[in-house]
Amino acid sequence: MRVEPDAAAAASGPRADTPVRFVRGVGPQRGAALAAAGIETAGDLLFHLPGRYDDWRHEQPASAVRSEGPWTLRGELRDVRVVRTRRRGLALVRAVLCDESGGIPVIWFNQPYLANRIEAGTTYRLHGPARPSEGGRWELINPTLRPVAEGEPPRGLVPVYPPLRGVGPATLAKVIGGLLPLLAQPGEIPEPLPAALRARYGLPPLAEALHWLHQPPYEAGLEELASRHSPARSRLVYGELLELQLELALLRLRGAEERKPHRYRIDDEVRAAARAALPFRLTGAQKRVLREIVTDLARPEPMLRLLQGDVGSGKTIVAALALVVAVESGLQGAFMAPTELLAEQHFANLSRLLGNRYRLALLSSSRRDPESRAALSRGEVQIAVGTHALLQERIDFRDLGLAVIDEQHRFGVEQRLQLQRKGARPDLLVMTATPIPRSLALTIYGDLEISCLDELPPGRTPIATEVLPASERRQVYRRLRQELSGGGQAYLVFPLIEGSESISAEAVAELGSQAREYLAPLPSAVLHGRLGADERERVMREFASGRVRVLVATTVIEVGVDVPEATWMVIESAERFGLAQLHQLRGRIGRGPRPSRCIALHGRLTEAGRRRLEIFASSQDGFRLAEADLELRGPGDVLGWRQSGLPSFRFAHPLLDQAWLERARTDAAELAGRWAEPELEPLRARVEPRLAQRLGRLAGG
Ligand code: ADP
Ligand code: MG
Repeated sequence: MRVEPDAAAAASGPRADTPVRFVRGVGPQRGAALAAAGIETAGDLLFHLPGRYDDWRHEQPASAVRSEGPWTLRGELRDVRVVRTRRRGLALVRAVLCDESGGIPVIWFNQPYLANRIEAGTTYRLHGPARPSEGGRWELINPTLRPVAEGEPPRGLVPVYPPLRGVGPATLAKVIGGLLPLLAQPGEIPEPLPAALRARYGLPPLAEALHWLHQPPYEAGLEELASRHSPARSRLVYGELLELQLELALLRLRGAEERKPHRYRIDDEVRAAARAALPFRLTGAQKRVLREIVTDLARPEPMLRLLQGDVGSGKTIVAALALVVAVESGLQGAFMAPTELLAEQHFANLSRLLGNRYRLALLSSSRRDPESRAALSRGEVQIAVGTHALLQERIDFRDLGLAVIDEQHRFGVEQRLQLQRKGARPDLLVMTATPIPRSLALTIYGDLEISCLDELPPGRTPIATEVLPASERRQVYRRLRQELSGGGQAYLVFPLIEGSESISAEAVAELGSQAREYLAPLPSAVLHGRLGADERERVMREFASGRVRVLVATTVIEVGVDVPEATWMVIESAERFGLAQLHQLRGRIGRGPRPSRCIALHGRLTEAGRRRLEIFASSQDGFRLAEADLELRGPGDVLGWRQSGLPSFRFAHPLLDQAWLERARTDAAELAGRWAEPELEPLRARVEPRLAQRLGRLAGG
């Protein structure tokens, strides 16, 4: 592969660091839009890759068009005219392309300006799909067209760029095409990878890889261009992953203290204390995981362990026992949940398990409790329960040993450093019901250990799941009333509407009050995020005690709520939820010995929506559901990625590129060990600013 320098363009053209608005064809308005999307310089534009390629290499006679194509034709355009459709007044441009073999009609929709641009009698190349029209003839639809200069060879593979902040494919092709000479100028796009690494994996230099993708050689294969395994694509994937792994490795090196200041006492007495707290026999998986945790606690370095376990697998008791070990060692513990509601519930549970022997306190932002806080800083409160904000706020522990973070899968290196900067170096146990592949977990956290609860506690009954149209709501309520006449409890779940808690509260109030009226005299209550802490706590207490039989709720109950007597769940507008969320919701039932039933009511369904609900009804296995979701939607959504601000990749795919991820991890560790070497300067120039940004964010809180 060779890159042809273009001296003329180089002399007058932009540099890689030219602000994007000064690039020819961009201008201030588009420039501002691109800059807002993180594309600030000409060089940045070169990393915006074609989404596909049009193959203009095989020109055909017009008479050959007998299928959808796409086709490449060459000829004169005649009879160009604008036609207004009667129905909607849309402007069509019609023409006829003529070559030696005959003629074929051409139609452009919504591009009336073309009529003035096309010059009669000029030869054009056209590329686009065809469709059959009346009378069994074929016509070309919306083809791209290019005038042909005398003796010009056929066009090759033409990149088609995905639109970028309102800048369309045609503009991007022109703008980026004009920047390609930069790739041949030494020093403009410096090569970050050391030659030895490139050689190890047979990867081309960065500039060459970009050039190949923007302007593939005439003979390139479409399949190779589309493949993520081409050397060029692999170069970008590996480069991206290596830089991220370097950030994580360096963060660790710069921030992490090797040793923790606290010690655990792990002996028979502590074991007996833990056993005393146990209300049931642990499953094999729980025992194994607890052993893994205790082994970590005994180490001199702080623990960072992720505990994965499907909904209902019994993560809480494992965490509670680990907290016993901490408290029995004279240390303090923290237990944090994603919502106040959950924190309140964990506080109630943990108090029941441990409250007669240890002092616990519930600390939340809606509850200023100076007395508990003072007791915590004196070391008298042994376990603090609160939301995830607990560690971020100015809450002083006297001697924090172990922090448990529930239902969270993005507590990574950065958050740990944030804690350390505040002088805390606790052992961290992060718990999640989201199944994350190991490679992805490593991407997010850098280094961490993973434990897995792969066994449900005994006595669980499978949940029957039905998917029904909302028009059956009446019958469903009738069945529910019948079911509840024999005892038991139920959830009625309403979705958040447009993510707005206030609208959602109204919707719940509205639909919920209809439901409650219908189910009366069964005692029911309403729960949503806008209720005050006291009110919420009161409602949950009433429901947990069985006095309230029907809980009408938003997704505030999605995670963690544990009321084993509740066996029915009706989910309204189920099509609005993702699979992972549906699974979490359904996990609130099926927690006791009585058989449970989940009914998903839905409005109008898209094809994907129907598929999703079918899968939901067909399985109760979180890992299987996550896999299916992955196929339906791609990894970002499954892992709640986009919402949660996890790293998103431009080139790499966290699941498809696992092999590159592992290599990048190993190589990053090695490079971080010799980071000051001159050879690594270009890599430092790319990684250091982002690292500084991360550290700056940490320092800023
Ligand atoms: P999750 O992993 O979803 O957080 P929980 O910790 O809330 O699950 O546990 C779900 C339910 O299972 C709780 O009611 C808990 O008391 C019960 N449970 C957990 N472990 C066992 C066990 N070994 N035997 C019986 N019940 C258990
Ligand atoms: Mg839980």
